[in-house]
Amino acid sequence: LEAKEEFSHKTLAMDVMRPRRSDPPLTIITQDSMTVEDVETIINETTYSGYPVVVSRESQRLVGFVLRRDLIISIENARKKQDGIVSTSVIYFTDHSPPLPPSSPSMLKLRSILDLSPFTVTDQTPMEIVVDIFRKLGLRQCLVTHNGKLLGIITKKDVLKHIAQLANQDPDSILFN
Ligand code: ADP
Repeated sequence: LEAKEEFSHKTLAMDVMRPRRSDPPLTIITQDSMTVEDVETIINETTYSGYPVVVSRESQRLVGFVLRRDLIISIENARKKQDGIVSTSVIYFTDHSPPLPPSSPSMLKLRSILDLSPFTVTDQTPMEIVVDIFRKLGLRQCLVTHNGKLLGIITKKDVLKHIAQLANQDPDSILFN
């Protein structure tokens, strides 16, 4: 009985991750089907530090994580210096380019800026453990999965807010500073 009671109080990764139930879905990038324009729109319409890259919207299988600043620099560079890169160019993070009709514009390979092993936890992981991992590994963000599918993200700031809520203290005064 005691153990059960203790368990019911535990905050899990799914309680802290974004998006919350009422939020719009996670902003993701697909590994080989978005155009330069699609990704530029994401960069312009969101301010997140990074974006999970998935196999496809349908599968939601995680491939990696790409930083916003690396995307901005790489696309800017490619548009300036790489022949044939236009708004309709398809961006791919895979090893090989996706099959496209011969008349399509040049594709832009961005595999080199992809973090292929971002840290992940399952949605049922107790926050105690998540906090510990952030501390010990110095993570900036961690992705949350369920049965191999991407569900959400927890950033360092999300963790700090969670701790502040627990302790009812100024988040800047604890843990990382
Ligand atoms: P920080 O948490 O340091 O402000 P971000 O700007 O990356 O870092 O994230 C702001 C908020 O949005 C956080 O609560 C985070 O969980 C969430 N978030 C981060 N990346 C994404 C994303 N790609 N899609 C949806 N929400 C995200």
